[in-house]
Amino acid sequence: MKVFYKKELLQEHLAEITIRASIGFIPTMGALHKGHLSLIEKANNENDISVVSIFVNPTQFDKKEDLRSYPRTIEEDLALLQTIKCDVVFVPSVSEIYDDNINALHFDFDGLEFEMEGKHRKGHFDGVGTIVKRFFEIVKPLKAYFGEKDFQQLQIIKKLVEKYRIPVQIIGCEIYREPDGLAMSSRNVRLTKAQRKEAPFIYKTLMKAKEKLKKDSIQTVIEWVEGEFKKNAVLQLEYFEIAHSKTLKPVRRKSKKASYRGFIAAFAGDIRLIDNIALN
Ligand code: AMP
Repeated sequence: MKVFYKKELLQEHLAEITIRASIGFIPTMGALHKGHLSLIEKANNENDISVVSIFVNPTQFDKKEDLRSYPRTIEEDLALLQTIKCDVVFVPSVSEIYDDNINALHFDFDGLEFEMEGKHRKGHFDGVGTIVKRFFEIVKPLKAYFGEKDFQQLQIIKKLVEKYRIPVQIIGCEIYREPDGLAMSSRNVRLTKAQRKEAPFIYKTLMKAKEKLKKDSIQTVIEWVEGEFKKNAVLQLEYFEIAHSKTLKPVRRKSKKASYRGFIAAFAGDIRLIDNIALN
């Protein structure tokens, strides 16, 4: 496994490789878990070499405190990556990526950026677009892997490569869950014992909502989910939305033709958790 800290050295190394090999790229913010590993394994199956980046991107955090408290476990991450096939790890510093201009570019993602996460995390997707575009320019992968855990992000990255004609295939990967259903997340390590015990409630509620939707209207199900969270003393609901899988616009009425998903963002104390499932 090769570890790079400087983009020029990474690019030199990759240029030699790309002549004869396909690169699968997996961008992460570290604090790696089995969800990340599942993306890397998929990349390994579909490419000659896999490149993982570990970079906590400052421009996608709307709150300074959230950026400060984001878990950083680089030693453990590199050790975990040694346990699987991972050819290249890129661990740049903030100045390596941004020089002294730590600002996001501005993107038009045809409205995808204004739904759900976009409403609650101002500028988040400008930060995501900036870093992912930058990494694509540096790594030049054939394929890049993103989790459905961040479903809106996945759709936005698809839009990014379409709009900027970036020659990379975006591969969506299923959500990897704990045995009790909680979606794996780097933030889970910050949960207290009581919060961790309660956190699978998010997935369980999504599953029940899916079941209810078979007979109830969209509005009834939304009200039911909101009511369930009001009764929960540990988790505070930020939003529950039923949205079209592609446009991410809210669904008002059930339809057999459209494909839609349920999305939840909820807080356990100051820890923000998100999850989503297909509803039809
Ligand atoms: P992050 O380090 O949280 O920025 O995540 C890096 C990539 O891993 C993103 O594409 C995430 O969507 C994906 N990811 C994170 N958690 C999971 C999970 N539980 N299952 C599948 N993919 C995930």
